[in-house]
Amino acid sequence: MERLQKVIAHAGIASRRKAEELILEGRVTVNGKVVKELGIKVTGSDRIEVSGIPLEREEPVYFLFYKPRGVISSVKDEKGRKVVTDYFEQIKQRIYPVGRLDFDTSGALLLTNDGEFANLLMHPSSEVEKVYVAKVKGIPVKEKLRSLEKGVHLEDGKTAPARVKLLSLDKKKQTSIIELAIHEGRNRQVRRMFEAIGHPVLKLKRERYGTLTLHGLNSGDFKELTPHEVKQLR
Ligand code: URA
Repeated sequence: MERLQKVIAHAGIASRRKAEELILEGRVTVNGKVVKELGIKVTGSDRIEVSGIPLEREEPVYFLFYKPRGVISSVKDEKGRKVVTDYFEQIKQRIYPVGRLDFDTSGALLLTNDGEFANLLMHPSSEVEKVYVAKVKGIPVKEKLRSLEKGVHLEDGKTAPARVKLLSLDKKKQTSIIELAIHEGRNRQVRRMFEAIGHPVLKLKRERYGTLTLHGLNSGDFKELTPHEVKQLR
């Protein structure tokens, strides 16, 4: 037995708050009857409709995917390019990525059919730390790395404090490998942060998402998360 608003949120069509609104507005039916109270609980066999459309209920599933470069973080692409769900053809649930990695970025990406979980992680208040390793042009001086740590000004505002570590540098090629750990998830944020200090990203990989690392996965592989791993991310 689960609360109706939770079941609607899990189906990925609305956040829990929005699901509550839908119920209060009288747009939700259970076994053909309009339900307007928030407390009610439903079982797996109850028929739920939202605005007349049957809710497709699936067991929630959670995957960690090692996204290769050159793949779109989407479930379909109009130009027919490779998308992340192409790697999940044997999975019957309708999963989608939690946030996105750029076409040219590789690394840790979560996919799920649990809309509430996805919304929670994508919300700006999410505390989940994401760790990136970037190969950048040039060799940043200490002050520049320090400014990344403190926050740089981007067109959508100053970035929150970050952790930065210079991992290696190649004087001959004039490139550096830098680890950057951030909690935010703005569009192309890491690339824009490095651009802001004058060291554009040449290659980018997300090494870690919260407690989840790519350990044991090859590019293009995925694994299902354990209930404990899911809990740690919430
Ligand atoms: N920041 C970026 O710039 N690109 C990504 O893919 C992820 C974070």
